[in-house]
Amino acid sequence: MTTPLFAILREEILATGPIPLARYMDLCLGHPVHGYYRTRDPLGASGDFTTAPEISQMFGELIGIWIAATWGAMGAPADLVLVELGPGRGTLMADALRALARAAPTLRPALHLVETSPVLRAAQAERLSGFAPTWHEGLATLPPGPALVVANEFFDALPVRQFQRTERGWHERCVGLSPEGDRLAFGLSAEPDPRIDAHAPVGVTLTLPGAALDIVRTLARRLARDRGALLAIDYGHARPGFGDSLQAVAQHRFVDPLAAPGEADLTTHVDFSALARAASAEGARVHGPIDQRDFLQALGLRERAEHLSTKATPQQAVRIAAAVARLTDPTRRGMGSLFKVMAVSDPALPALPGFPA
Ligand code: SAH
Repeated sequence: MTTPLFAILREEILATGPIPLARYMDLCLGHPVHGYYRTRDPLGASGDFTTAPEISQMFGELIGIWIAATWGAMGAPADLVLVELGPGRGTLMADALRALARAAPTLRPALHLVETSPVLRAAQAERLSGFAPTWHEGLATLPPGPALVVANEFFDALPVRQFQRTERGWHERCVGLSPEGDRLAFGLSAEPDPRIDAHAPVGVTLTLPGAALDIVRTLARRLARDRGALLAIDYGHARPGFGDSLQAVAQHRFVDPLAAPGEADLTTHVDFSALARAASAEGARVHGPIDQRDFLQALGLRERAEHLSTKATPQQAVRIAAAVARLTDPTRRGMGSLFKVMAVSDPALPALPGFPA
């Protein structure tokens, strides 16, 4: 399939030569007119993929309880800045704020949403109108002060760089054109990059989460100084960055990442070990990563499900049980252990709710 973005990419490749994977991902996801996230609401049954807050209200409610407890552990500052990165339809935050109002009735956080998609901003405005959110394109404009930052399935959507080991060194993975010029094709940079200092056998791929690292460093520095915590939930691994997890999804199926640029979601598994190292180096404390199942159960998922079921119809009770299974099942069909939860906090917060002390 040829897409409007294909013509733009072809032009750029003909002018400059093959482009790094990070540039390709950046254009596919964030091109101002044709970028995947600029043009659509990708979530839900009619979209391309489903996320935990869209599966069950319990997910956002438990995050609301986490926010209340963490705010308490911070000494209950009156001027809390509550931030969500990539809030999607606003479902997580709407559920969290409802639970938060019960768990911490005196807390009136200032709500700040970091979102680039105009389509999703509109959905968030509708869901969260009662809380007067302020939107941001990036972190730079967020107000200072003690903050709690939530990010669910945000870091996986940021561009990464990849390098492949050859006899001559580490070559950057690039996107160029097929010999006929009518398709995109993966290739490697002509020269190895002398700055990559890693040891691995020929053929191995190294994934470097550049954009995610920048965001985590900025937040870690800020949280260590102004107090607070970041809660990041994503599918990923706790081992370091060898391997290629680039994937494209459209209509709930895996597709070729080069076939329809701008029309499929491109993601990679989040390298939590790299993010943890970057946060520690900035003077912040790292909690986890732990499996999503353990985090949700520690926050009381089972009790919450039982409580909801006592007031539910038999049909609703079946749906609640199915949602619990989907959020916690450690097998391939569930999110329980593929999804990890990691927090980054100021060093004065030794333990955080949901994480082992
Ligand atoms: N957190 C939501 C949505 C996950 S999809 C949920 O769990 O349902 C990824 C979200 O990040 C979308 O809202 C998308 O528009 C946003 N996003 C993607 N890249 C972004 C960027 N570079 N800056 C800000 N938001 C971004």
